[in-house]
Amino acid sequence: MDKPIYVTQPHLPPLEEFIPYLEKIWNNKILTNGGPFHQQLEQALCQYLGVEHIALFTNGTLALVTALQALRVTGEVITTPYSFVATSHSLLWNGIKPVFVDIEPNTLNLDPAKIEAAITPQTTAIMPVHCYGHPCDVDAIQKIADNYNLKVIYDAAHAFGVKDADGSILRHGDLSVLSFHATKVFNTFEGGAIVCPDAKTKLRIDQLKNFGFVDEVTVVAPGINGKMSELNSAIGLLQLKHVDQAIARRKEIDTTYRQLLKNVEGINCLLNSGEKVANYSYFPILVEAQYPISRNALYQKLKDQNIYARRYFYPLISDFPMYRGLPSARRENLPVATDVAFKVLCLPIYPELTNDSLQRIVNLIAEG
Ligand SMILES: *Cc1c(COP(=O)(O)O)cnc(C)c1O
Repeated sequence: MDKPIYVTQPHLPPLEEFIPYLEKIWNNKILTNGGPFHQQLEQALCQYLGVEHIALFTNGTLALVTALQALRVTGEVITTPYSFVATSHSLLWNGIKPVFVDIEPNTLNLDPAKIEAAITPQTTAIMPVHCYGHPCDVDAIQKIADNYNLKVIYDAAHAFGVKDADGSILRHGDLSVLSFHATKVFNTFEGGAIVCPDAKTKLRIDQLKNFGFVDEVTVVAPGINGKMSELNSAIGLLQLKHVDQAIARRKEIDTTYRQLLKNVEGINCLLNSGEKVANYSYFPILVEAQYPISRNALYQKLKDQNIYARRYFYPLISDFPMYRGLPSARRENLPVATDVAFKVLCLPIYPELTNDSLQRIVNLIAEG
């Protein structure tokens, strides 16, 4: 049996490159609380991503929870059912009611044309996801937000480094939230960040991620402990040196998949949505009715060969027990998301994936 191939494999720089970072931590004994590596990584990421202010977090989920708290979001928030469950969980952690709106069939992002109908007097914000790193229709979403005086918080967990014609996709909305989990394009083992528009917002977020302390003796909010440690920050600094190379290899894999799968009947490689700079974080295909076997049969067939593709995103968030009782969670309300959840399969894509493995995966899919 061949070695298992997972949907992703964390990218790690050579171990010896990390030793000097460890020595620094051991020497200065600053382990967390906004130490030197934490500050350096914030600066380095601002520069790399082309944004003004970043607050680092232990993980993306706590960053989402804190982003909502920072903007004092309450009541109802419009969001997508087609995402990782942390998107909606961050709302429940703030006592907010998620209102699910269907996705758009080409990008699989929240469909702006369906947002207005879901707005009620309780709606205070929209939380879209740049799914697989494909930018949402940010202009249409902002227009609705402006008309109804709503905040916009982007779950940008998949969108590290993605740019549109005018710059970073992360500059849109009131806040954007990144994840640096091991499975993401850029990882700090565990980690996340909030991209903030101004220094004042960053200061409030930095206080909220440190229990709500504003000085030694003053606590102004029930903040959480969301601080990224020096160890994770150091990993981030090192990873950043290698991330362009990693994304370049992902791009090659993406291109190869598209070429080799182009003529396979019933396999729909979702289009590149035209963003100026993509990150190739996922390679989703839709297994359509014309394909000889079902999506689940293909998933199992690959698994039997030790190839672990993933059904991201199935089940929909709205189908999990803590959400399915909501009126907006009904499948009739979410026809596109429901359809896609039963067709989608994310194929392995990561820098170390070899061309031989790629060819083997494609051959298995092509034979049906
Ligand atoms: C990974 C992910 C998260 C959660 O990030 P963590 O860093 O794992 O907490 C949130 N939303 C989406 C869309 C994700 O893919």
